[in-house]
Amino acid sequence: AVMMYYDQDASMDALQGKTVAVMGYGSQGHAQAQNLKDSGVKVIVGLRKGSKRWKEAEEAGLQVMTVPEAAKQADIIQILIPDEKQADVYKNEIEPYLEEGNALCFSHGFNIHFGQIQPPSNVDVFMVAPKGPGHLVRRVYVEGGGVPSLLAIEQDYTGNAKAIALAYAKGIGATRAGVLETTFREETETDLFGEQCVLCGGVSELIRAGFDTLVEAGYAPESAYFECMHEMKLIVDLFYEGGISWMRYSVSDTAQYGDLTRGRRIITEETRKEMKKILGEIQRGEFAKEWILENKANRPVFNMRTKQDEQHLIEKVGKQLRRMMKWINAKEV
Ligand code: NDP
Ligand code: MG
Ligand code: MG
Repeated sequence: AVMMYYDQDASMDALQGKTVAVMGYGSQGHAQAQNLKDSGVKVIVGLRKGSKRWKEAEEAGLQVMTVPEAAKQADIIQILIPDEKQADVYKNEIEPYLEEGNALCFSHGFNIHFGQIQPPSNVDVFMVAPKGPGHLVRRVYVEGGGVPSLLAIEQDYTGNAKAIALAYAKGIGATRAGVLETTFREETETDLFGEQCVLCGGVSELIRAGFDTLVEAGYAPESAYFECMHEMKLIVDLFYEGGISWMRYSVSDTAQYGDLTRGRRIITEETRKEMKKILGEIQRGEFAKEWILENKANRPVFNMRTKQDEQHLIEKVGKQLRRMMKWINAKEV
């Protein structure tokens, strides 16, 4: 069985007298920095000059400075800037200021696992990775809960890395929900697989394929939107509360029979074979290489496909419908 850690397994003592620098104040950065502060940790925020978020972080009561300044002052450095930018920022603005016995921390293993960041051997290297978006990490903490997280120790120079990592996890609220110990390899590979095949890639393509099928058959795009996109959340909430069994218990028997007999015709053996292929690309570093080169080339595929997909009918119809659903707090990019 895997090790799970909860509040009683972690002590904030390991962070006593230490300064944590959170580099970046985006999705994860704003959440982790504020949660740590509210948990009594001395936390500073590292940003680049001119960042829009500088003032926002100060208004939250945090001390803000440039990344090199924060790196100099910190004992523990949590790097929460976008993965594809971390290697350069690390090399130029963090590594020169690392001191023996400091700790480097991540919320995703990409740069360590694929060798883009190679820390010196005299620092601790660990990961605390919330399994949820940053806004949830903050909201749930304020409500008294936490987001389940992964913890991994890559390098334990001080002999204290695990205690520090657990204290960090407790500081962001993660031990309230459960912290699972893993490795950088497992976190990195499962995270990439999940977002590619199931969470982001898999589910958005499933929704669009369903929507397109109904619209091409002459049904109103609005009906297709409600059926394939809007209702998705209601179903996912049931998964979240009680797994597939609870979802099946809650829907009609007609829906359950359709699920039982038709689902396997949509996600076929061929789909599973393709999932294995994608996992192989991740494990062999092929995806990492592709994404690193895509960034060096200024993201031609990323930009073109994003723009193309924003023009899809489901996005236009959805925007109109959500504007009428006031309780949703509709977001527009
Ligand atoms: P965001 O894109 O939300 O964060 C961007 C932040 O990084 C901004 O504050 C930005 O500042 C800053 N930044 C960007 N470039 C630089 C730079 N060159 N120097 C200094 N600061 C810079 O990132 P995420 O929070 O999404 O991701 C952070 C880490 O967390 C990643 O490792 C990611 O994999 C991981 N993670 C993310 C999750 C999520 O929910 N998004 C979930 C779990 C893990 P500026 O205002 O100047 O633009
Ligand atoms: Mg990810
Ligand atoms: Mg129905």
